[in-house]
Amino acid sequence: MAVETENKSVASAMYIVPTPIGNLADITLRAIEVLKAATLIAAEDTRHSKILLDKLGIGGVRMISCNDHNEAERVEIIAKEVENGGVVAQISDAGTPMISDPGYKLVSQLVARGVKVVPLPGPCAAITALCAAALPTDKFLFAGFLPVKDKELTARLEQLRTSDTTTVFYESPRRIMQTLKKLQEVDPQRQVALCREMTKTFETIYRDNVSQLIQYLEEHTDEVRGEFVLVVGPYEPSEDEQGSISPQAQQALAKLIGPLKVKEACQVVADLTGESRNRLYDYALTLKQQQ
Ligand code: SAM
Repeated sequence: MAVETENKSVASAMYIVPTPIGNLADITLRAIEVLKAATLIAAEDTRHSKILLDKLGIGGVRMISCNDHNEAERVEIIAKEVENGGVVAQISDAGTPMISDPGYKLVSQLVARGVKVVPLPGPCAAITALCAAALPTDKFLFAGFLPVKDKELTARLEQLRTSDTTTVFYESPRRIMQTLKKLQEVDPQRQVALCREMTKTFETIYRDNVSQLIQYLEEHTDEVRGEFVLVVGPYEPSEDEQGSISPQAQQALAKLIGPLKVKEACQVVADLTGESRNRLYDYALTLKQQQ
């Protein structure tokens, strides 16, 4: 792909450079400019990134690997490169470095050492999915990959029961059905968006409640492949629940009815929130039944 960019000089610094998550054309002009000007490219996987650089017509740049295993050791090389007037570009295999990708240790140590770090905006699967989900975006939580162990996965999804924010997860095709089924146990009506293969040929966005989505995917197992972002909408109280107790009180109760007896939990939440103890008790019993 031949793209002309303004030939501005790129100041010495370490640049965090997002790369496409599936569509080469999503690289920004500024990212190309920095990659062209780089005297050193620190890549999560040098062989993988070489393919991208070849497609962009960028060759002959010194590259080093910088991943979860050697990030801390790379600080010295990268810091020296910038201190000597070089331009370093840090890239991951796809998307924005540091977002469920290497880079945090590197950036924190460079900043502590006084090395200039410049972030470039660009492709990120989480943000791309969030924008397409048709779920509230006023507040959201990026929660990365879900735990693999069954008990931890259950506990993590249980936290969504009364969550008032949209939550964004990365998930693998091997685990997505199990995750959706566990979420269904928490709230069968929860609105979700499953964003598959975004920016690629088979991009598909499934927007439905979790039970309907499971049914659809069980009937279309050939679609359970590729890369996925799962966006889970906030808890929406039913009409019965509305006007009864506040989401904050519900959340507090959901957390306390494990460690405390139901009555004690209701008393603590009633004292803290001023909610009716009877209504809290009714709600606590519903929660208990669902557990
Ligand atoms: N740093 C990357 C970013 O900014 O998006 C994410 C890296 S993380 C190791 C990779 C995960 O991101 C995948 O397992 C998948 O959950 C999600 N992902 C990446 N590209 C995607 C795409 N094109 N469509 C859907 N999900 C994608």
